[in-house]
Amino acid sequence: MIKKTLIISAVALFTLTSTVFAAGAAGPGLPGNPVPVTPSSTVTASEAASLQYMREEEKLAHDVYVALGDEWGLRVFDNIARAEQQHSDATAYWLDFYKLDDPAAGNEPGEFTNVELQALYDELVIQGRRSIAEALKVGAAIEEIDIRDLQEAITETANPALTQLYQNLKAGSENHLRAFATNLKTRTGAVYAPQHLSQAEYAQIVGDSIQGNGNGRYGRRP
Ligand code: ZN
Ligand code: ZN
Repeated sequence: MIKKTLIISAVALFTLTSTVFAAGAAGPGLPGNPVPVTPSSTVTASEAASLQYMREEEKLAHDVYVALGDEWGLRVFDNIARAEQQHSDATAYWLDFYKLDDPAAGNEPGEFTNVELQALYDELVIQGRRSIAEALKVGAAIEEIDIRDLQEAITETANPALTQLYQNLKAGSENHLRAFATNLKTRTGAVYAPQHLSQAEYAQIVGDSIQGNGNGRYGRRP
């Protein structure tokens, strides 16, 4: 019985690993503990729209962090930009899987198909170039927006593959939010005030690192 279970698990794990590697979502940079799931065979219009939006939102995070990393030479931007590339690639995998148009296809860094995301990118890069403190606040704000939008995407899908994708991306965003808030506190002494999540949601995610004594790796509190 145990042996049979082990074999099933091994097969399931292999299937998952193949999928996840194909998605570019495996390895360091994508937090969470993926479990084997069977993707729905089709997506609804709203699931398609969410996936396309998140593809560009993850690209926005990546492109802003690359721009601000170049501006300020802070490693936190370079490290998190790498994770955002994986996040964006993971959404691209599922766009391709469902044969949906990729809004990021052919776009340069800092270029977006969605006009609201284009405006947001332009505004945040200007803000982040003002000072290191503003740059770190921009990073935290992007992660808050990401968490908010991923939560919405999770409520709007019943597809286990997309739920898992969004939960993984959200776990990553929570780590990034902690990292930016901690860096802001350490480098400037400023305590980050949430702009897009409620104070309660923010406190639950950031936990003790809001006090500036964390390393940005605190677990989510129950
Ligand atoms: Zn991300
Ligand atoms: Zn992030």
